[in-house]
Amino acid sequence: MFKSVDPKARFPDMELETLRFWKENAVFQKSIEARRGQPYYTFNDGPPTTNGSPGIHHVLSRIFKDIPCRYKTMRGFYAPRKAGWDTHGLPVELEVEHTLGLKSKRQIEEYGVAEFNQRCRESVFKYIRLWEAMVERIGHWIDMDDPYVTLKDDYIESEWWAIKQLWDKGFIYRGYRTTPHCPRCGTSLSSHEVALGYQDDTSDPSVHIKFRITDEALAASPELRALVPSGKPAYLLAWTTTPWTLPGNTALAVATDAPYAVLCGPDDVLIMAQALVESVGVPGYEAAGVVSGGSLAGLHYEPLYNPHDFGVPRLGMPSFEAQSRPEKLTYRVIAADFVSMEDGTGIVHVAPSFGEVDFEAGMREGLDFVQQVDLDGKVTGSYAFAGKFVKAADPEVTEDLRSRGLLFRSGTIRHTYPFCWRCGTPLLYYVKRSWYVRTTAKRDRLVSGNLEINWYPDHIKYGRFGDWLENNVDWAFSRERYWGTPLPVWECPQCGRHECVGGRADLASRPSVQGYRPDLELHRPYVDEVTFACPDCGATMRRAPEVIDCWFDSGAMTWAQWHYPFENQDLFPRMFPVDYITEAIDQTRGWFYSLHALSTMVFDGPCFMNCACLGHVVDANGEKMSKSKGNIIDPWSVLNEYGADALRWYMLSSVPGENQHRFSLQALSETMRRHLLTLWNTYSFFVLYANIDGFVPGREQPTVLSQLDRWIISELNQLVLDVTKTMEAYSFTQSIRRIEEFIDLLSNWYVRRSRRRFWKSESDDDKLAAHTTLYTCLTTLIKLLAPIAPFVPEEMYQNLVRSVDADAPMSVHLTDYPIAEAACIDAPLNRHMELVMNLSSLGRAARAKAGIKVRQPLTKAIVVLPDDEERASVAALSEHIKDELNVKEVEFVAALEGSSSECITAGDDRYSVGVITGLSGDLMAEGFARELVRRLQTMRRAAGFEISDHIEVFYQTGEVLQDVFERYADYIRQETLSVGLFCAVVPEDASTQSLKLSGNEIVLGIRRAA
Ligand SMILES: [Zn+2]
Ligand SMILES: [Zn+2]
Repeated sequence: MFKSVDPKARFPDMELETLRFWKENAVFQKSIEARRGQPYYTFNDGPPTTNGSPGIHHVLSRIFKDIPCRYKTMRGFYAPRKAGWDTHGLPVELEVEHTLGLKSKRQIEEYGVAEFNQRCRESVFKYIRLWEAMVERIGHWIDMDDPYVTLKDDYIESEWWAIKQLWDKGFIYRGYRTTPHCPRCGTSLSSHEVALGYQDDTSDPSVHIKFRITDEALAASPELRALVPSGKPAYLLAWTTTPWTLPGNTALAVATDAPYAVLCGPDDVLIMAQALVESVGVPGYEAAGVVSGGSLAGLHYEPLYNPHDFGVPRLGMPSFEAQSRPEKLTYRVIAADFVSMEDGTGIVHVAPSFGEVDFEAGMREGLDFVQQVDLDGKVTGSYAFAGKFVKAADPEVTEDLRSRGLLFRSGTIRHTYPFCWRCGTPLLYYVKRSWYVRTTAKRDRLVSGNLEINWYPDHIKYGRFGDWLENNVDWAFSRERYWGTPLPVWECPQCGRHECVGGRADLASRPSVQGYRPDLELHRPYVDEVTFACPDCGATMRRAPEVIDCWFDSGAMTWAQWHYPFENQDLFPRMFPVDYITEAIDQTRGWFYSLHALSTMVFDGPCFMNCACLGHVVDANGEKMSKSKGNIIDPWSVLNEYGADALRWYMLSSVPGENQHRFSLQALSETMRRHLLTLWNTYSFFVLYANIDGFVPGREQPTVLSQLDRWIISELNQLVLDVTKTMEAYSFTQSIRRIEEFIDLLSNWYVRRSRRRFWKSESDDDKLAAHTTLYTCLTTLIKLLAPIAPFVPEEMYQNLVRSVDADAPMSVHLTDYPIAEAACIDAPLNRHMELVMNLSSLGRAARAKAGIKVRQPLTKAIVVLPDDEERASVAALSEHIKDELNVKEVEFVAALEGSSSECITAGDDRYSVGVITGLSGDLMAEGFARELVRRLQTMRRAAGFEISDHIEVFYQTGEVLQDVFERYADYIRQETLSVGLFCAVVPEDASTQSLKLSGNEIVLGIRRAA
């Protein structure tokens, strides 16, 4: 006997039981160990940052991480998988700063870096229990007992080893670059982070500034001399929205081909692009003539602020570090291709220490780099506005220029500006010295390695990821922060030599090393305290203060999770490259990139072979989920109400992984009802009748299978073939949709068409065939489904398989994935049965058109099938059409001849089915009999009788229905398991009901037979 199945079982409760079973029996560990010695299937876990609770989008990536590993395990592969946690970086620091009320880096240093980092370490694990609980609850099998954690010293040491490898190959350098800088966080942001923080409709100053051409330059230019009245000063008019950068101005850029207007006013002369005169508006000025941009290039002008007067540095740039610094200022007009004729004045203010194009122009033209702002965003030097934050300095700079007659106009503008996505401070584009990984040196290999990777969807390879690699720039990977992997580079303050350290032993072996001990924690400030002697000059070398980008941490997991090469030298080659990784699609510029870049730089090849990119999860209306909109869906609320299988099933089947996922609870509940519950009901049906009949799987085999049995077994094997193919191709959505189709066939055709065989088959052998077939379908189906929705298959497996076979593997997840038997696949039969289903639904449509209930038998259905062969094949299956349409006869014709008001048809573009609607007295009586049976069945259920209970039926009615009871007595008795049909008053102890069938009144009563 199988355990009886509750058709209304609560899945979440059952799943908790299953989780307990897995845990108590270490089923996950067993599933891996059972395959030891077999070929590896390898997976790398993208480490989440755990300083926040997991959201519904994390569930999606967990499902995608889980499925192929479970699948490959069932296919016989050895698939160990290690979880990982990302623990360093600015988000962690910011949370701690917030908790401690610290507002700047200076305050952190006053608080103490050791204590600060300790708080960071603690905060990382604040939410880790929530993560572990979620991962476990959704059935993601991954080893969380021995995870890799990026803050561990072993992990850091492996990163140091890699940095040293790169250092020795010349792939690490220190250079200047414009970087987006958050003055509050005091560190650079990656381009990816900048993209997160743009705010529309930001208000900024809009100022037009006059730069005076030097008298010498004016005198030396024949074109201008001809147009500028002598004695009047001539100004170049430029426009900016960042007045605070003006003290750093060292050039003005013009477009060589464009015409520039020379405009005469009462007191002075202005020069600007002819095309923009009207939009700027210069009342009181008259056009004196036009000069070309080319003739302006090379002109010198007077600095707004001479850096010598304000005690600010002119940066020594790498290219002129060796040169002597020219004391003469370079302020001049340069020709450039970035000058726009769309807005501004056609003369662009260039401050090489700040903007990106400015920096490049500065390098190209050998301009001065005046950097009058520090990393906190405050103005330095002796300006009137020194000490102010740059945005606060804006109005003062403007006012100062106005008072000196250099402001033409000031106003405000609303535009889009980037802010720090973490803290909301406006970002500054700032030229800084930082450490780089020279990824461009390996660009070709990055690109060719990408071609070896299978991407899902495949357009990522040449699109999003391929483009990103083609446009590769060196990786600015140092961060001026505290909680991160320390950059293992030591500097000599005396001769400037740098030494890179590749691990603990390397550090310990340095000459005159101080502060090193074997249990040294590899974090700031402890590492900062280690010094050694410079091999060149003997001075004391100290560590460069930076830590490294946390994306380097996660990108290094390929080897650092194994503490390679210090440990696991045998294991690592088996785990490189891994078969599979997956994360959200935005990781093409995040983790996917850092993995690929580092693996290519260190090991000269890709470190993953298959990568599934997942779309974003949004709410049912397509809106991004956010706290402020109040549309965040807590995974726990879904898990508690519907269960993990329903959630996994829905997220997988609704859209392919790479698409945007619109998360709708209504759609989830619909998916669950249509598929998961249909499967459950089919299972419940099987167990019910198997128990009634005492069916024991495998005890005896049926001698013959019916055509219907052969058909569903053929469909089943086709399913195994198709699902295996799509699983291998990482097309899990196709797999689950194919399974859904099969569940529909099994329940809504096989079981429906076979129902009577389970119940009162004419032969025991046929009943056995039906039981055996349905058993085979269910036990195969649950194995196909197990990697996708692991809970319900386990529950069914325990009952269907383990309860009758103690030698079977203890869990469905320890079984082998099914293998299709090609010999069982009868493709023509599948095709013809599908046609029978279609024809049946056309027939039902015809009946509906005629307004006749299906329970009313009709004389004939006419099936129109033009193709001779098809007609013959389907005719062999006509029993099903006959039963489905409740007709006495099915006629097959090539074409319908003539028309009759008695024949109502329904059809599509190829086929049509007609039903003959004329009713004889016999047919009507039979219709009544069927209707009575249905009513009695309903009463049986309402009275709570068991399916196998026998009953007595009592009725009182007129002549018409009494006649039906007499003529169809055998039929009614059989269908309703009645031992007697009594035309008598309904006894007191019977359930009773009065009704009217086509105007005929009847009182019915039933009670359990003694
Ligand atoms: Zn910030
Ligand atoms: Zn030295």
